[in-house]
Amino acid sequence: MQPKVPITVATGDGIGPEIMTQTLRVLEAAGAAIAPEFIEVGEQVYRAGHSSGILPSAWDSLRRTQVLLKAPITTPLGGGYKSLNVTLRKTLGLYANVRPSRSLFPAVATRFPDLDVVIIRENEEDLYAGIEHQQTPDVVQCLKLVSRPGCEKIVRYAFEYCRLHGRRKLTCMTKDNIMKLTDGLFHRVYTEVGQEYPDIEQEHQIIDIGTARLADTPERYDVVVTLNLYGDIISDVVAQVAGSVGLAGSANVGDHGALFEAIHGSAPDIAGQNIANPSGLLQAAVLMLVHIGQGEVAARVHNAWLRALEDGYHTADIYQPGTSQEKVGTVGFADAVIARL
Ligand code: NAD
Repeated sequence: MQPKVPITVATGDGIGPEIMTQTLRVLEAAGAAIAPEFIEVGEQVYRAGHSSGILPSAWDSLRRTQVLLKAPITTPLGGGYKSLNVTLRKTLGLYANVRPSRSLFPAVATRFPDLDVVIIRENEEDLYAGIEHQQTPDVVQCLKLVSRPGCEKIVRYAFEYCRLHGRRKLTCMTKDNIMKLTDGLFHRVYTEVGQEYPDIEQEHQIIDIGTARLADTPERYDVVVTLNLYGDIISDVVAQVAGSVGLAGSANVGDHGALFEAIHGSAPDIAGQNIANPSGLLQAAVLMLVHIGQGEVAARVHNAWLRALEDGYHTADIYQPGTSQEKVGTVGFADAVIARL
């Protein structure tokens, strides 16, 4: 029997615990050789007085396993709290956030049957560097940090991703007509590094028209590389027009670790009601299985997931009379996947 690979698991809050429980059920039924180590993060840890949202003991597990499967967490609003998501990405050096979205038409309704887009988002810098100041009682400032090494790492990662996955075009999106220094540097590095990749088609677009076109004609895009904040926003746009934000998973990749999570948040409006779609976290788990060398199990889970959707087992976010066969809850959807493994 294959030795079990230790992974760190954070169940999160909001819909986190319910989608994580069902994801782990599917992985176990599929025969994934993993040994989960559970850590507590998020709301309950913030409330216990840890402003970072994570207990010191959790770092020990993360340092040991270097792999985190994480359900969404609620970030408390206002001062005094740090976003744990940002802390994890920065502390673990997870510089690349890869967010694939693909049309599942006709199984899942979308206006874009040919949509197949990967957003590659810079994950450590930009306005997410967390440098905010109170200048005067009425003026606050947030610094946008962009470095040449940071740009080179993410742009090179994106070109290499294209080669490795047989992708033909890499679009760079920035707002360098206005932010000439910061976004200008990102665009310049993209152009420079691009010279080493003549086999990959290259284009640049200003982020505002790029976002409009992603929402209107996403099938004209292949892989997009962009700065942190823009990448966060456009990946939600693409996932939603592909069917639902509840469908997309993501990998946060660094040189010494990786974090896998759904792209959506903790959805407090539907928490605890057994209606959340567990697909985003399940897709993140598939990416994790590939990362730890269990590609066969990953393919089994992915295919069973596709078959459950094709057979019309749909959670409320993607349910459409006519296309769907049965409206299922979080547990019912996991049951349908397990039945098709
Ligand atoms: P959200 O993504 O949680 O929810 C947006 C909308 O999409 C809601 O109507 C929700 O019901 C729906 N939705 C999201 N996931 C779904 C799923 N799996 N199935 C069905 N419907 C789903 O965004 P929000 O409401 O703006 O944020 C809520 C909290 O999540 C905030 O505290 C935010 O900071 C946090 N957040 C966390 C992460 C993360 O942990 N990686 C990411 C984004 C937001």
